[in-house]
Amino acid sequence: MKDIDVAIVGGGLIGCASAYYLAKAGARVVLLERGQINQGASGQNAGSLHFQLEHRLIQNIEQDARELAFYVGLAKIAIEQWRGIDDELGFDTQLSMGGGLMVAETPEQIELLERKSRIEQSQGLAVELLDREEARRKAPYVSECVRAALYCASEGHCNPRLLTPAYACKAAELGASIVTGAPVNAIRRDRDGWRVTFRNDARSDETIRSSAILNASGTNAPAVAAMANLHLPLFPVALTMNVTEKAAPRVPHLVQHVGRKLSLKQADDGNLLIGGGWAAVLRQRAGRWSDSRSPDLKLASVLGNLRVAADIVPLVKSLRLLRTWTGTTAITADQLPVLGEIAEAPGYFAAAGGSGFTYGPTYARLISEQMLTGKTSYPIEPFSPVRFGVLNAFVG
Ligand SMILES: Cc1cc2nc3c(=O)[nH]c(=O)nc-3n(C[C@H](O)[C@H](O)[C@H](O)COP(=O)(O)OP(=O)(O)OC[C@H]3O[C@@H](n4cnc5c(N)ncnc54)[C@H](O)[C@@H]3O)c2cc1C
Repeated sequence: MKDIDVAIVGGGLIGCASAYYLAKAGARVVLLERGQINQGASGQNAGSLHFQLEHRLIQNIEQDARELAFYVGLAKIAIEQWRGIDDELGFDTQLSMGGGLMVAETPEQIELLERKSRIEQSQGLAVELLDREEARRKAPYVSECVRAALYCASEGHCNPRLLTPAYACKAAELGASIVTGAPVNAIRRDRDGWRVTFRNDARSDETIRSSAILNASGTNAPAVAAMANLHLPLFPVALTMNVTEKAAPRVPHLVQHVGRKLSLKQADDGNLLIGGGWAAVLRQRAGRWSDSRSPDLKLASVLGNLRVAADIVPLVKSLRLLRTWTGTTAITADQLPVLGEIAEAPGYFAAAGGSGFTYGPTYARLISEQMLTGKTSYPIEPFSPVRFGVLNAFVG
């Protein structure tokens, strides 16, 4: 039986980036992915790097101010990390950090932008409130409806089809073993570590012994936790994305909305990518959610999403919709990620949820630090699975 330091379950962005940071520090790592690298949310997402507090997080802005301030602190670290990612990976991930605008159309929305900007500025995130004229000067492609915008110069986007494979390749170069087509189906506690069993190429079960486990299996994280008799309360959420035909370069920014669901950007090759959290419909099998097939499309979501996009960026009206797709991501009830060791199961770590494209590289770096040294360069306690500890107080 193979003896290693860390077994990672899941070959999405968090798993592959963790494999890279762990291998770089000299750990013996095996990453097990049930299908192909990047087949989950990490390859389906919008690719937005949104460092401003997002629309979905600020619905109870006063009540959640403390957690939100903490998130902004994380954004500052993530920005630094993103700036060096292409050099670190030696790969062009089509990263663009040309700035982002979060727009407002009503006085109430402007007030929300102001309140949000106070939290962000108090934590040292550089954001600038623009009035209508300033917004249109910076972004001549936005419509007359835009009455104000909060501008963050570090926001942008990156190609989600490139980033995770780049991390996986670099991790492999550093000696990590990246195994695809290898579904993990059992995890047992050993005397001084863990035994992780997966289905191998020969379609038989194979077990490796590992000092630590990282559950980075996205929407399947609760099931992978259950294999070790643990609860991990993450829930699947189905989302919709749209892409238009190509246009001449007009939109150099990430565009979001403070009161309506919108994310919009122009990819390197000219297509507009439009999303923002519009629902799709999760499939069910035998009365349970099933992630074995893509969620069903909801026409109302496509139309609603395109309506907001066209209201804010009129260019959208002249472009044909090329493709629409759905994807599934994992969230917790408090919308924060789960990041850390499960206290009831020493050596069992989890990293999932919470804007995992923008913060995936940072979650991976921080969880790797914790796994290797027991400490992190930025505190991750508010994200710790300990906040759900009561659920695991009863497991054997
Ligand atoms: C449509 C959409 C748009 C989004 N837009 C954005 C955005 O613009 N910005 C942003 O920050 N975030 C965005 N997100 C969220 C982001 O994509 C996710 O938070 C992030 O990709 C999660 O990465 P992950 O590595 O945790 O999970 P995943 O990428 O889902 O990877 C988990 C992997 O685990 C594997 N796995 C599961 N079970 C097992 C098992 N038993 N054995 C082995 N392998 C297993 C799966 O096959 C999968 O490959 C979006 C998500 C969606 C769906």
